[in-house]
Amino acid sequence: MPALLQSYSSGQQLLTPRMQLSLSKRIKRIWPYFVDSRLALGIALIASMFAAATEPALPSLLKPLLDSGFKRSAESFPLWLVPVAIVGLFAIRGLANYISQYAVAHAVNHTVTRLRGHMFERVQKAAPILFTKQTNSSLTNMLVYEVQFGATTVAQLLTTSLRDMLTVVFLLAYLMWTNWQLTLFVFVLAPLVVVVVRALSKRLHRLTLQSQQAVDDLAYSVEENILAWRLVRLHNAGDTQAQRFAARDKTLRGINLKLVAASALSSPITQVMASFAVSAVVVIALWQSNEKGHTVGSFVAFVTSMLLLLAPMKRLSDLSGQFTRGMATLERAVNLIEDTAQEQGGTHQVPRSRGDLQLQDVTLQYPSAEKPALDGLTLQIAAGQSIALVGPSGAGKSSLINLLPRFLEPGSGRVALDGVPLQDWNIANLRSQFALVSQDVVLFNDSVAVNVSLGASMDEARVQDALAAANLTSFVDGLPQGIHTVIGHNGNQLSGGQRQRMAIARAIYKDAPILILDEATSALDSESERLVQSALERLMQGRTAIVIAHRLSTIERADRIAVMDAGRIVEQGTHAQLLVSGGLYARLHSLQFKS
Ligand code: ADP
Ligand code: MG
Repeated sequence: MPALLQSYSSGQQLLTPRMQLSLSKRIKRIWPYFVDSRLALGIALIASMFAAATEPALPSLLKPLLDSGFKRSAESFPLWLVPVAIVGLFAIRGLANYISQYAVAHAVNHTVTRLRGHMFERVQKAAPILFTKQTNSSLTNMLVYEVQFGATTVAQLLTTSLRDMLTVVFLLAYLMWTNWQLTLFVFVLAPLVVVVVRALSKRLHRLTLQSQQAVDDLAYSVEENILAWRLVRLHNAGDTQAQRFAARDKTLRGINLKLVAASALSSPITQVMASFAVSAVVVIALWQSNEKGHTVGSFVAFVTSMLLLLAPMKRLSDLSGQFTRGMATLERAVNLIEDTAQEQGGTHQVPRSRGDLQLQDVTLQYPSAEKPALDGLTLQIAAGQSIALVGPSGAGKSSLINLLPRFLEPGSGRVALDGVPLQDWNIANLRSQFALVSQDVVLFNDSVAVNVSLGASMDEARVQDALAAANLTSFVDGLPQGIHTVIGHNGNQLSGGQRQRMAIARAIYKDAPILILDEATSALDSESERLVQSALERLMQGRTAIVIAHRLSTIERADRIAVMDAGRIVEQGTHAQLLVSGGLYARLHSLQFKS
């Protein structure tokens, strides 16, 4: 399988929790991310146990109260014991619950920070294919919201359910102790509940996954429409977009309602089953009441304990639904961390490469495309040479240059820098050899200086020089804080030409041995293009340069022109040679000359 397709299919696993794994294996995958918070989790568990232990205390207080409290005699307990016991009980319970909640929150928030850190790092170093597989909004969703929801749900449920389970155990023990025949009878119903709850939880898991996908789709709709608000309004597409949004929202609503229906079903089922038990117990207890030892006190204590059992039992049965949801989201996070194909680099590195590039029989096919974008392309670019790539749009020019910093992997063929195949280069070192100015300029919401020196240490004098070379000095001097002015989200306070010149200044600052210009001057007017052109020509001196430009006048001075069509190099030579040979270049040239 070509490398590209291989990483493509591994990207797909991201959304699929490993249903084939048992629950304990799935928990084992998630546990390592919680392990550093084991102390806090331990404290939460112990506090939960204390809270649970206080539960049977209440009914056990009722028994002596009813049996001897109301017919006061010499041997009955002193009256002051009643408030002491009740207040003491609730104080212990309150404190235990408080400690347990805080400790869980502590564990969850620390775990979430760790998970997010891992996720962010994996995304930063992910093989580029991730970004074609996942939308921005679904990654944002996962990192910002889902991971918090998942960790909170799972950790909270683990501790509250431990408390509930212990409560159930303690209450059952107390029930056994007061009346074991009755308790055994209640027990018969328990396995029935388990079977029903199991069946529901499978359905819940599936619906949870569907719901997450629907949330991603909805978020993507919002993102698209915010990014493209001008386009949407200009084309009066608001209504159709609103309809699309409404349709997705409706899908989400449908799934969420099914989800609620499935999880809400579990509690009525358990309650009806419980009502069977309660009615049977009352009947049996009344029937037993003739025998010795069965007092009013013990009956009330028994029924109270049984009623106290209902709340934790109900929570425990709801638990499976919520737990399933929480687990599914956490697993998505863990999958992102563990299954995202990471960029693989080699070990070769040099401070500064010569800039000698070779492409040999290179093919490239996008997974979604029918025809290959590059089809057996061979091209040599000697160190220090400038080469212009020319050809109709869709010829594969951008695809070719994306291979060089390994933003794309070729399906077959060989790409080498200084005679060393690209995959043998240390990936960060390889990328430090290239400066790229492309059509779409990305600017960060930070100062001009940070944007120009991006990633490198900032030297103000060099930033000023780079800005001057990119013909931006007068613009930056006019900004309120000069080079320290923050330029807004993606530089939206800058004009198209200013943005492009910022990208050029960035390339000048980087001073890399290989310069790639992909339509770098397309957004400039003729006057600023002329000014920047001279800066770029100076920049190209002594470097390998690859220039893609539609305006052929800007590339006439390149050492060599390579003409591309349908993923191949169809002719090469100087401007004059190509005009004489009368091929594709000559045709393109005469077309532009006419207009
Ligand atoms: P150029 O830069 O010469 O205009 P490109 O390299 O952008 O050409 O595109 C070459 C071919 O690859 C085109 O047919 C284009 O449709 C296709 N292509 C480019 N990017 C993608 C992509 N991300 N997914 C699928 N096909 C793509
Ligand atoms: Mg292009």
